[in-house]
Amino acid sequence: MVDNLIWIRGNIIRQSQATVNVLSPAAQFGLNVFEGIRCYWNEKQGELHAFRLKEHLDRLMQSCRLVRLSSPYTPAEIQAFMVVAIQANDLQEDTAVRVTIFGDGQGTWNTCEPVSMFIAPMAKSRTQMNKIPTLNACISSWERINDNALPPRAKVGANYINGRYAHLQARYDGYDLPIFLGQDGKVSEGAGACLFMVRNGQLVTPPTTSSVLESITRDTLMVLAKDSNIAVTERPIDRTELYLADEVFLCGSAAEISPIVSVDGYVLGDSLPGPITVSLLKSYLAVASGENPAHREWRTVVHCRI
Ligand code: PMP
Repeated sequence: MVDNLIWIRGNIIRQSQATVNVLSPAAQFGLNVFEGIRCYWNEKQGELHAFRLKEHLDRLMQSCRLVRLSSPYTPAEIQAFMVVAIQANDLQEDTAVRVTIFGDGQGTWNTCEPVSMFIAPMAKSRTQMNKIPTLNACISSWERINDNALPPRAKVGANYINGRYAHLQARYDGYDLPIFLGQDGKVSEGAGACLFMVRNGQLVTPPTTSSVLESITRDTLMVLAKDSNIAVTERPIDRTELYLADEVFLCGSAAEISPIVSVDGYVLGDSLPGPITVSLLKSYLAVASGENPAHREWRTVVHCRI
C-alpha cells in the first residue's frame, strides 16, 4: 500500500496512522463530502498544476451546504493546506488529491460535530495517448439516484453506493462499466463520470437536471469543444440514441476522457476511440498540464522543482 503523508485535522501524518471514530456518521453512514482534484506535472516548466482548483473547492462548499455540514475551513484555507500536503510528499509527477470533509463526532445527525477534513495526495498518471483504454458499457438495470431522494448534485460519500450496485452488476454481467438511466428513463451518467455522445458531428450531453453531478470536466469539454468549433448541445438523451451514436465517452477528473466502444453489445463505429473523442482528450490533457497555455485561469501551481 502506498503510505503517503496526508493532512488531517491540522497535522501531517502517514495515511496509515490516520484514524476515524468507528461510530462517526462518516464511518457509519457515508456522511462525507469530497473532491478528487487532478494535478498535472509540467516537465518543461518544472511545475505541478492543479486543474480547476477553484471550481472543485466551490463545489465542495456547495456539497457541504446541501448536506448541512458546516465547513471548518474556507476554500482559501483548504487550498493552502492542499499545497502543504502535496509539498510534504514532494510530488513532482501527475497527482490526484482527495479532499474530504466529514462528520467526525459520534452518533447520528445531531451529534456530527466536530466536522473535520483530510487531504490525501497520491501519484496518478494521466491517460497515455498511445494506450487509450476502450470500454464496453451496459445500460444498468439500477436507476440513478435523483434530486428528491439523494441528490447527485452533492458529492456525498453515501451517493457512491448507488454507483457500486451498478458497477458491480455490470462487471458481473461481463461489461466494463454501467451507464445509468434516471427516474425519467433518460440517460443520466456513469458510476463516477459524466457522459457525452457524438451524433452527426455534434456533441450531446444530458443537462445538469438529468440526475448528474455538475461535473467540472463536462464543463471543461463544452468550452474546449466550442474552442474547436464543435457544436455542443445539452439535452435529454434516449437510451437507443447511444446504440446509434458515432462516439460515446465518459468524462471526469479521474476518468479524464474514457472512450466507450460498445453499449449493450451495440458496437460503436469501428470499435476504436472516435476522432472527436481522441481530439478532445488531446486538447484536455494539453490544457490541463499547461502544455497549451490557453485557459490559464484553470491552472494553479501547487508545487515546483526545487
Ligand atoms: N459524476 C460523478 C458521480 C462523479 O463522481 C464524478 C467525479 N467527480 C463526475 C461525474 C465527474 O465530475 P468531475 O468532472 O467534476 O470530476
